[in-house]
Order: sequence, then C-alpha cells, then structure tokens
Amino acid sequence: MKTASYAAQAAESLLAPMTIERREPHANDVSIDILYCGVCHSDLHTARNDWGWTVYPAVPGHEIVGRVSAVGSEVAKYNIGDLVAVGCMVDSCQHCKPCHAGEEQYCGHRVDTYNTPDGSAMGHTMGGYSNHVVVREEFVLSVPENLDTARVAPLVCAGITTYSPLRTWNVGPGSQVAVIGLGGLGHMAVKLAAAMGAHVTAITRSASKADEAKALGADAVLISTDTAAMKHAADRFELIIDTVPVKHDINPYMPLLELDGTLVIVGQVGLMQELHTAPMILGRRRVAGSLIGGVAETQEMLDFCGKTGVLPEVEMIRMDQINEAYERLEKSDVRYRFVIDMSSMPAFEG
Ligand SMILES: [Zn+2]
Ligand SMILES: [Zn+2]
Repeated sequence: MKTASYAAQAAESLLAPMTIERREPHANDVSIDILYCGVCHSDLHTARNDWGWTVYPAVPGHEIVGRVSAVGSEVAKYNIGDLVAVGCMVDSCQHCKPCHAGEEQYCGHRVDTYNTPDGSAMGHTMGGYSNHVVVREEFVLSVPENLDTARVAPLVCAGITTYSPLRTWNVGPGSQVAVIGLGGLGHMAVKLAAAMGAHVTAITRSASKADEAKALGADAVLISTDTAAMKHAADRFELIIDTVPVKHDINPYMPLLELDGTLVIVGQVGLMQELHTAPMILGRRRVAGSLIGGVAETQEMLDFCGKTGVLPEVEMIRMDQINEAYERLEKSDVRYRFVIDMSSMPAFEG
C-alpha cells in the first residue's frame, strides 16, 4: 500500500514529500491512519545522520497517534476506530531476557519505528511523518479517549523516556527529584514527577526560566550558575534526571545527590567529559542511563496520564513547516514540543 510521507534523501537535504510503501497487514498487524506525529530530537539527528547510522531515504517520526483503520485476523486487542499510539519501537525478538521482562527497548533485535533494516519493500522502517503506518499488535498502545488527542503524541517518546526512570527509581509522594534541562524531555519529567507527588526542583542555567519551570509544576528552581545555591542544595536529591541533549559537564550536579542517589542521563550525547570519582565514592552515588520504556510501561504511562491529565505543552505545525521546525529545535526555540498535524500532509499520493 502506498502512502504519503516526508523524507530526507541525504544528510544535507531538506525533508520533502515522498510516496512510500507500507506492507499489507499481516494477521497480527494493526493499520493506523496517523492523526498527529511529535517531533523529537532523534528525528533531527537521524535526518542529518548525526549518529552516523542513518539509511536513506529516512522518514522520521516516533511519536505517532492515530485511529485504527484495519486489523489483521488474529488481532485481539484493537478494533477499527480505536485511538492508538506507536512510540519508538515496532518489533523485537519477543523471547530474550529483556523481552520476557517487558523491557523490549533493551532487546538486541529491537526494531525501531524508523531507520532499522526490516526486509520490507523500503528496506528499512519508515516513521510517522506519514499518513499511514502498519504495526504489529504487540507494539500498538491504547490512548485514553479523555485526553486531548492533539497533545498526546509526545508522551510515547518524551513522556516514557522520563516516566521510566521515575518508576525505576521508585519516585513517589515526598521524593526529592531534580530535573536538568527544560526542553521536550525536561518539561515532561517535571510534570510527571509532580503528578507522582514528588517535590520537584528544576535545575537551569538561567534565572529567566524559573517562572516557566514553576508553571509546569516545579516546586523549586535551582540556578546552576549560583554557586552558593548549588552548595546549599548538596545531598538533597534521590534522583536527578539529566535531559540535556548536548555534551555537558555533570560533575557540578553529583554532590547534589543524597547517599545512594542516582543521576540518570536520558539524552544520547556520546562521549562525555571526565567524571570525578570523589562524589561517587563519598556518597555511593551513581550515574546511570535509561532508554525509553517497555511496551507495558508505556501503556501504564498513558493510563497514568489519562487519570492525572498530564499532557505535554505542544506547538502544532503543518507538515510543510518541518524544516523550519528543525531549525528552531536546534536553537531550543519551542515550548516544548512540536507536533505535526497530519491532516496538513500535501496531497501527492499516487
Ligand atoms: Zn524520540
Ligand atoms: Zn528480545
């Protein structure tokens, strides 16, 4: 089946319309008409081959929300018309240790929603900057109908990326949590941690972000350039979620952790600066990483948002504004996530 998409043909090229082929639904597949797709930093990195593993043409997009348009004969969980989402993965081996533990994101055979070789007509997976997608049932998520559909999409990447470490490190009422960075991921971390009942501190470089952070639900703001305030905050946090999307020095944050506290990095930034061992040894503090979340945990997150009403702040764009949106994303000029209204896809399907 042919469908319209926006694709990058090379690292230097802008995204432009392209007709792509989706597979005919297998017995356990769900066909989805895409309503909205969020714009993640990974989309930009992939389109421009920043990580060196992009295969072209590349259709980014792994924050997909849509309605089921058809289901295969063995599909049990979904019916035509259901509101569903697809996040960063569309397949995994289903029998390794992580898969059995419901942590398919750590499966060695994980198939990402875009840019993973999949033996299809296109040669690799194509993401959500498209009118239509076909995904096996196990990787389709159910979206609570009470949520504002136009704002749901970023939950399945930015949302789960921050929800998962909050759950892994058992954040709950009274937990002292800090969030570094107030972008797409950081603003979700603040909202989700606050909804779990934690006391949330936003750590930012500039005092100008203090009001924004509090509007998102932060209880306190710590300015990282304020040496006295940073000293005063020593040993305070059980968990620091570091969402900074570029290389940065984490040494100043380590003393802020309490005994056994963890700083968890969720942005894929590559080689980091040297890490001083003293704060780690003296407080048994840890540096960890975390990748999205499993399918079951992602569903739990969507249900949690359905109950609590947590949603990202989004700026809606048309499909043909994507290149401009990438430029703004690079400058962090978005409050806080772009979402593409897929009804704006230009008509060129052939
Ligand atoms: Zn993402
Ligand atoms: Zn597996």
